[in-house]
Amino acid sequence: MSTMKEKKLPQRRCIGCGETKLKRDLIRVVRDPGGVVSVDPTGKKSGRGAYLCKNPACLKRAHKTRQLARNLDCPIPDDLIETLSEAIAQHE
Ligand SMILES: [Zn+2]
Repeated sequence: MSTMKEKKLPQRRCIGCGETKLKRDLIRVVRDPGGVVSVDPTGKKSGRGAYLCKNPACLKRAHKTRQLARNLDCPIPDDLIETLSEAIAQHE
């Protein structure tokens, strides 16, 4: 019984509220090596990533405080914010 290994679930920090949560409970935004920013539902795209709670308030805050742009190190297009809002709304 003592040999059973505990599986550690990956955790990431939400750039909106700053809380650390399970990676699967967050939405990943990624800037790919070509500089294109997109929502990454699989969490497996390569590139620079940022994580957000599935909470519209966190998205709003991350955008307003420019945390999103800062974390991805590039400007955030408005349509990405819309795409993110829609992705978050689907989880509510
Ligand atoms: Zn959050």
